[in-house]
Amino acid sequence: MKNPLEPWEMVIGLEVHAQMRTRSKIFCACSTRFGAEPNTQICPVCAAFPGVLPVLNREVVTLAIKTGLGLQGEIRGHSEFSRKNYFYPDLPAGYQITQYEWPIVLGGQVAINTADGRSRRIGLTRIHLEVDAGKSLHEGISGASWIDLNRTGTPLMEIVSEPDLRSSEEAGEFLKKLRAILRYLEVCDGNMEEGSLRCDANVSVRRGPEAPFGTRCELKNLNSIRNVMRAIDHEAERQIEILESGGRIDQETRLWDADRGVTRTMRDKEDAHDYRYFPEPDLPPLVVDAARIAAVAATLPELPDARLDRFRTEYGLSDYDAGVLTMSRELADYFEECLREVTRGDRGDAKREENSAERERHGAGKDQGGSREGQGDTRESQGNAKVVANWVSVELLARLNRDGVEITASPVPAARLGRLLALLAGGSISGKIAKEVFDIMFRSGEDPEAIVAARGLNQLSDVAALEKEVLQVLEANPREVAAYRAGKSKLLGFFVGQVMRATRGKANPELLNRILLEKL
Ligand code: ADP
Ligand code: MG
Ligand code: ZN
Repeated sequence: MKNPLEPWEMVIGLEVHAQMRTRSKIFCACSTRFGAEPNTQICPVCAAFPGVLPVLNREVVTLAIKTGLGLQGEIRGHSEFSRKNYFYPDLPAGYQITQYEWPIVLGGQVAINTADGRSRRIGLTRIHLEVDAGKSLHEGISGASWIDLNRTGTPLMEIVSEPDLRSSEEAGEFLKKLRAILRYLEVCDGNMEEGSLRCDANVSVRRGPEAPFGTRCELKNLNSIRNVMRAIDHEAERQIEILESGGRIDQETRLWDADRGVTRTMRDKEDAHDYRYFPEPDLPPLVVDAARIAAVAATLPELPDARLDRFRTEYGLSDYDAGVLTMSRELADYFEECLREVTRGDRGDAKREENSAERERHGAGKDQGGSREGQGDTRESQGNAKVVANWVSVELLARLNRDGVEITASPVPAARLGRLLALLAGGSISGKIAKEVFDIMFRSGEDPEAIVAARGLNQLSDVAALEKEVLQVLEANPREVAAYRAGKSKLLGFFVGQVMRATRGKANPELLNRILLEKL
């Protein structure tokens, strides 16, 4: 794709703060639950009373290792904590405990798809652990602020990217992919609006891809992917304007104002902090051995890219469908559960399962039987997969979006949709009726079989019954029959329509066609 800023090029590096999904805080046993009454989840440790000592939460380390492995970084056997000193009302200790010189993860990468359809690997510099600060609340009082320390001591991972991104779209893709991976790993819930995933963007511009990097500005207060992208675009334009009129960029931190769509200076180099980093005296070095890393590695789930590849090869899905369905682990799980149900219902058996359970019990070649069965079913199940993919990514998602409901709270669970699609695959109902039934299921939570039975929606697949309907229609329309026989073959559609009307749309279309041709 053509770079609209020609001859200029953007250079972007992101610093992402991810709140870790632990039940308790990083150095004490207080809860990390979001949304509690202010200052109800604090203790002498996270409120930084004098004389207390931090104790590192084991789960934090496990999740950090998991993240490092999932993002293909190097887990360091030895890492250390430092104190980063600064004064702010929401930081009761007067310093933040963070990993500085010795982070727990070095390197790593995130693969993104670019606008021209290629895949690009964005390097990660490091991932380190640190504590979150509290929150200042300014609403409802004048001339003062409330301080809520519930968040103080919540474990954070800071994930720092290399300056590898070249456009706001790439930055957006990077964040989406990173968020998906963190969610698959279940290390962070990735909710940017609630602040459990936060992003600062470093932006500079240069004259073309060969030029040296320019001076960067750091943008803060970006609480959605859309705002990250808007802020980056705006900032690059600002810098280009300055440089083209002969000015110079000063390295500074700028605040994004989403309402006005501009960035403004927050602090420049002169008031840049001297954080006086020094080793945290109350915590020993963090040592992680190979056995522990291996144990965590054994718990890694299949990640989005791997799952996307498998969806393409195993189910024969298009890149696009596989991409949509693997965006979230829950959606991918939903799809697979639904497909299992269709395939099961399609074979019509509990029976076969019983048989294979029987085989297993007798220790007879389960693998043999299993693989033969698997092969025979591949084409059929790929056909099912495409139908299920379409229903999940179009019919289901459209209804969920309309109602603002998450996939995990879908009124129609995966297995139930699977049973509806099994009725469709087995020819009991038509595609049109299936959509109607799905609407009812969505509203009432009823079972598909019950809806079909109660409303008599079963497709008419009974040869004798359908023949009767056909003959009645032919008798009632002798002129059309004569015209058809005289060569007006287009009239076939007319007869189909008449029978469909008579059967209220329930005639099995293939069977109907066959009978009509025969009788005509
Ligand atoms: P600091 O420690 O001051 O935050 P770092 O060197 O760690 O500085 O870089 C922070 C972020 O800035 C990283 O994400 C990095 O990719 C990005 N970055 C560094 N140089 C540039 C540049 N010239 N333009 C844009 N981003 C940059
Ligand atoms: Mg930084
Ligand atoms: Zn506490």
